[in-house]
Amino acid sequence: METIVLGRTGLRVHRFGFGGIPIQTVSEERAVETVRHAISRGVDFIDTSRAYTTSERRIGLALKGARQKVVLASKTPDRTWDGVRRDLAKSLSELDVSTIDLYQCHFVRDADDYARVKAEKGPLDCLRLARQEGRIAHVGITSHSLDVLDRAVEDGLFDTIMVCFSFLEPKAAESLIPKALDRNIGVIAMKSFSGGVIEDADLALKFVLSQPGVVVIPGVESPELFDENWRVYAAGDYRLSPKEKEAIEAVRRRWDKAFCRRCDYCQPCTEGIPISVILHLQSIARRMGEASLEKEWLIQGIEAARSCSQCGECLDRCPYELPIPDLIRETLDWLDARRCPQGQP
Ligand code: SF4
Ligand code: SF4
Repeated sequence: METIVLGRTGLRVHRFGFGGIPIQTVSEERAVETVRHAISRGVDFIDTSRAYTTSERRIGLALKGARQKVVLASKTPDRTWDGVRRDLAKSLSELDVSTIDLYQCHFVRDADDYARVKAEKGPLDCLRLARQEGRIAHVGITSHSLDVLDRAVEDGLFDTIMVCFSFLEPKAAESLIPKALDRNIGVIAMKSFSGGVIEDADLALKFVLSQPGVVVIPGVESPELFDENWRVYAAGDYRLSPKEKEAIEAVRRRWDKAFCRRCDYCQPCTEGIPISVILHLQSIARRMGEASLEKEWLIQGIEAARSCSQCGECLDRCPYELPIPDLIRETLDWLDARRCPQGQP
């Protein structure tokens, strides 16, 4: 199975890593079993985040006696010096390690957010100090915005980028990924299943793996699901047959006017609605568990969504011509139906 060097980190890893989101949704015992199983199969890159509730702790438990077998990556969503220091200390303690190989600025939303990351005495400065102290080895950035990541690649301040990449969101392959690889910046692909919208795992993984130089990190919550995905990677041949290409086109047609690509070109919304976040609520609940919808920032976003005035200003800005107000309404209906099932008051 093919290994690659993750850009200028110099870390050699398999092109198939382990994403730490879904293990939050099962028991601790099952989560630990799943991570250990993945390592036993050969996984040598594990990614988690401070934002994934129990994930770091569970990975830490699974790594007892196996720390040296994996490259360990985590993230902080905080944008202050003190907050990043606090998050890093917590990550180290939850993972129960002395060093994290890659620590990433998590979910950098837009240009303003990126400016906060780079600000003097901000997250990046804080992580540089942590690197000097030996508490982390490398610094990365994750974002759903290609514009933010393009800026980050141009600036050359990060060792890796983590980007949404799937056959429903293939745009990163046009320019961003080649540019990052050309500059020796490691590329980690997330959302390979587009948040669960792509149901055919073989197709999803073959598409991403057919892009050279990229590490994919599908998250799973059981050894059985892990093996299904690992089998695709281990096969080593990611060429798509004509039948598979047609299947991809069919999924693309099905979601053409319904799948939000998270580009945020529809912003700013007149009511301050985080449109792309709202349009991915179902996927967030599916992958991170229902409880994740109770996070403060999501509650605020959902409340804002309820105030959509149907002004239509976002419609012309969406390059995919999504019927945004209708999709917001459908998402809120789905949310309300789950919270108050039919027949219950
Ligand atoms: S239609 Fe709704 S989502 Fe779109 S800009 Fe207006 S308030 Fe925002
Ligand atoms: S609604 Fe359209 S413009 Fe807005 S983030 Fe989604 S795909 Fe991009």
